[in-house]
Order: sequence, then structure tokens, then C-alpha cells
Amino acid sequence: MLRQSPLTKMATLMNPRWNGQFSCFDLVAKTDGRSRTVVQVRDIEIGGNDFVVMAGPCAVESEDQLLRTAEAVSEAGARMLRGGAYKPRSSPYAFQGLGLEGLKLLQKAREATGLAIVTEVMSEEDVELIAEYADVMQVGTRSMENYALLEALGSCGRPVLLKRGMTATLEELLRSAQIIAVAGNPQIILCERGIRTFETATRNTLDIAAVPVLKTVSHLPVIVDPSHAAGIRCLVPTLARAAAVVGADGLLVEVHPHPEEALSDGNQSLTFGEFREMMDDLQPYLEIQQAARQLRPRLVAGGIV
Ligand code: PEP
Ligand code: MN
Repeated sequence: MLRQSPLTKMATLMNPRWNGQFSCFDLVAKTDGRSRTVVQVRDIEIGGNDFVVMAGPCAVESEDQLLRTAEAVSEAGARMLRGGAYKPRSSPYAFQGLGLEGLKLLQKAREATGLAIVTEVMSEEDVELIAEYADVMQVGTRSMENYALLEALGSCGRPVLLKRGMTATLEELLRSAQIIAVAGNPQIILCERGIRTFETATRNTLDIAAVPVLKTVSHLPVIVDPSHAAGIRCLVPTLARAAAVVGADGLLVEVHPHPEEALSDGNQSLTFGEFREMMDDLQPYLEIQQAARQLRPRLVAGGIV
């Protein structure tokens, strides 16, 4: 039986129903005594005052592809490199990832650029190995309810980036976060990456309200993945700007040297030039986020606190 801890008064004021819905997840719910967790990844603080951008290819494909991308995203202002070495593919015929070889390339890219590494783990059997190479362990949308994996991540010694299941409610997302925390790891970053709805014009529907709701009811950092939400590269910068304005703590963005040749998710991957432009164009929106924090820290949906 979980201990019930009332959410902050602010959250109660926002929507009394949220107390019953979320306060049972006592290790991840916001309380008056615990309003914010800052996840430290090397010299990077996620959930603090910085907006942290994690960028890179969907999948690690080759040394040249990864190192060139790492340099380009680093120059444009990304702090972390993303790239899957173990890929959850919906077809058995699709590229499944380079596995250990991909992890070694990620390590090489970190040495070359200083970027911290976030990469996906799909099975509890791979946790120990991936934790040797990754700075942050990514749990993909399809694994949000892989309870054996969540439990194994409790003792992996690395922060976890927990993506929202594509058909999961926010309550279910926080339940999975609670499982990781109960298993011993409170270093969790939540990620809204779009959910499945009746809409087909985009790959998924970005639930932008998830950001202020999660920031109100939980003390954990919240980032947005505009790439998997959009499914198409032309929408990614716009969704990224929306994420900045509603108070997200950062982004997870797919970038590829030649998106049209990518082995996975090329349609939604930005070119180097597009990523640089996206980063430049984000600046005024990040200033809005900063201004909102100072102007109305309590009123802006709690999301900006
Ligand atoms: C990814 O980040 O490449 C990925 C597979 O994401 P998701 O789990 O959100 O589909
Ligand atoms: Mn992808």
C-alpha cells in the first residue's frame, strides 16, 4: 500500500482531482517539501535553470555518421548526444541496431565532443552493459510498461529517461516512474513524445498539456521529443518552440547527416542546417520561458515553477 502524500497546495488549487490521481505515487509526486528534482548528468543539470537539448540520430549507423552528427549538434548547442544501439523495430526485417559496436561508437563520440550519451535499453538483460557506456538510460515508448526492465533500472546507477507509452495516460507514466524510484533510482527524466489518437496527419499527437500537468504534479524534470510526435521534419522546430514556451526542461531531437539515407526515422530527422536553425530560433522562446518563471511562478500552470 502506497503512502498518500498530498500534492502541493498549488496543485490542489489547479485541479483537486489530481490529488487523488497522482499523490499515491509518493516518490515522484510533488509535495510542499519536494518541488523540484535536478538530475545531474556529468556537468549538465536537467530540471534546473538550463534548457537541455539532446540530439542525434535515431540509430547509430556508422562511425562517420555518428561522429559527424555529434560534432554538428554540439556546435549548435546540444549538450547530449542521442543514438540507439539497440532499436525496438516494429518489423523483423528493419535495421535492429549495431548493439555493442554502437555503444562503443557512442563512447568514442563522447570522448571526441564531451557530449553526454543517452541511449535506449530494451531488456533487463542489457542494463548492466548499457550502463557501462551510457550516461542516461532511455526507456522507449514500447517499454514503458516493461516492469522487469523498470525494476532492473532501479539499481543501474544511471539516470533514466522514461518515455511516455504511446497509449499511456499520465497516471500510467508516473506509475512507471514510481516503479523505478521504488526500485532504488530517483533520478528520472519524464519525456512526452506524442500519443496515438485518431489523428493521422502527424505520426503521433503531441500532448503539449502533458508538460504543465506533469510539472505541476511531479517534481521530476520533463522533456519533449518533437521528432517522434511530428513524424515529419518540417513540424519539429514548431513543436520544439511550443515545448520551450510551456516550460519543458529540454528536448530530445533526431538529427542525421543525410536524413533521406537514414536507416530509421529519416522522415522526421533534421539535417545539420535545420537543427542549427531550430536552435537559433528557439532563443526568443526560451526567454519567454525565463520571463514567465519570474513573472508568474505560481500561475503559469505550475509548469514554469
Ligand atoms: C527513439 O527515440 O528513437 C524511439 C524509438 O523513440 P520512441 O520510443 O518514443 O518511439
Ligand atoms: Mn527514432
